[in-house]
Amino acid sequence: MSDFDLVVKNGKVVTPYVGVTDADIGILDGKISAIESSIDDDRAKEVIDVEGKAVFPGACDVHFHIGIYHPIEESAENETRSSLVGGVTTIVSYFRSGSHYLERTGSYKELFPEVVSRTTGHAYTDFSYHIAAMENSQIDEIEWLVEQGVGSFKYFMFYKGMNLHGNNTDPKAMTMTGDPYDLGHLYKYMKKVKEMQDKYADKGRISLSLHCEHAELLRIFLEEAREKGIDGLQGYHEGRPALTEQLAITEAAVLAKATECPVNFLHLSSQEAFETADEFRRLNPQLDVVTETTLHHLALTWETSYEPEGRTWGKVNPPIREAKDNDALWAAVEQGRIDQVVSDHACVEEENKGGLWEAYAGFGGTALLYPLMISDGHHKRGIKLEKIAELVSANPAQTVGLYPKKGTIAVGSDADLAIIDLDKEQKVTADLLLSGQQFSNFQDYEIKGWPVMTIRRGELMYKDGEVVGTTSGEFIKRPIGVHK
Ligand SMILES: [Zn+2]
Repeated sequence: MSDFDLVVKNGKVVTPYVGVTDADIGILDGKISAIESSIDDDRAKEVIDVEGKAVFPGACDVHFHIGIYHPIEESAENETRSSLVGGVTTIVSYFRSGSHYLERTGSYKELFPEVVSRTTGHAYTDFSYHIAAMENSQIDEIEWLVEQGVGSFKYFMFYKGMNLHGNNTDPKAMTMTGDPYDLGHLYKYMKKVKEMQDKYADKGRISLSLHCEHAELLRIFLEEAREKGIDGLQGYHEGRPALTEQLAITEAAVLAKATECPVNFLHLSSQEAFETADEFRRLNPQLDVVTETTLHHLALTWETSYEPEGRTWGKVNPPIREAKDNDALWAAVEQGRIDQVVSDHACVEEENKGGLWEAYAGFGGTALLYPLMISDGHHKRGIKLEKIAELVSANPAQTVGLYPKKGTIAVGSDADLAIIDLDKEQKVTADLLLSGQQFSNFQDYEIKGWPVMTIRRGELMYKDGEVVGTTSGEFIKRPIGVHK
């Protein structure tokens, strides 16, 4: 009898909130069962010697879009494969009824089991879902959803009177229901999520995520940008300016304070958005507020996103902005005032990335989660390795109720590991990322620090650029404390 199924030897183990130590990791039944200065080879069935490379906890990419613009099965397989490249072992995907996903609405009691069963058997990473209540009756299903393992929900501030592709003012365009989707809906929604958080207060976090752009301001700014004929991503940035984020955050914050609902301000894209969310949190230490930004809002501007002539690969909501916004967001990350960094991965077909106003919003990025943070965060800005692990693994795992099953390297935690060669240099190409998306607007981005192995629950999934594991990712019910 061996003590371990697998021993990962000679690693520099990066533990969030703690630091970096030289250690061997013993794995049994998919969990970490020992962390010791040295473990004898004969105690293990299998040994992987990582020869001094960094061993991080697998990243938790908690802002993801499986099933957007594609069938769920295909999307899960292609996009979680791409996650492995970035050292990601768990994804938490946003799902809502309505257009661009299942193209229908109704009861989540019918829709949600379908979503989970169509993902199961197709995901390389472990997975979970955030759900958006798009109509009144779905708010009444929140308690049932928590019992099914959904520990976080979503509201889109900009759907009031908006359509993803432009300025269609039909409020039913996205939700496919006749119910009002407005601040009244949000207020009721927050009260319900807060009620659930109170019910399970000692067992884990239950929260509402907010996409903050202001529908009424978007209407006039988009109109103006179109009239002016500004092309490309600059036009999109001007059509959805930071002011719209600021006002949406302010409105949502008033309701969050009134209801005491735990909230997550998603993908803060601008200096103004960050400052507004940050000020709200500083003034209200009694509230539970999480701040998030994305790789692209940290790293790209409308000028540096790779855009071939006539394409709008980098169109995304909220838009990619300017260098001053990159700088402000990096400073916030360094100061610990942004809690988590995610990819907001949404695979879009190249044929749907033509003219600015017709193009679909979103693009992939999960394969760059650790690489970009290590390259630009650690190497360029001196952010400590354990802090990088906090930003992409431990903090997001806490936000969504996965910690410490996911998000750390500790005895008893799932054996999810990203082995990273901190000195390996790569220039980004779409081919390296193993996604279903044929292009990358990070093309030619120079990265230093690249995952060489990804291990999920003790199984080697990815090695030296190739997938070696299977689509055996499991659905994880959250908060884990409620579902033990
Ligand atoms: Zn998103």
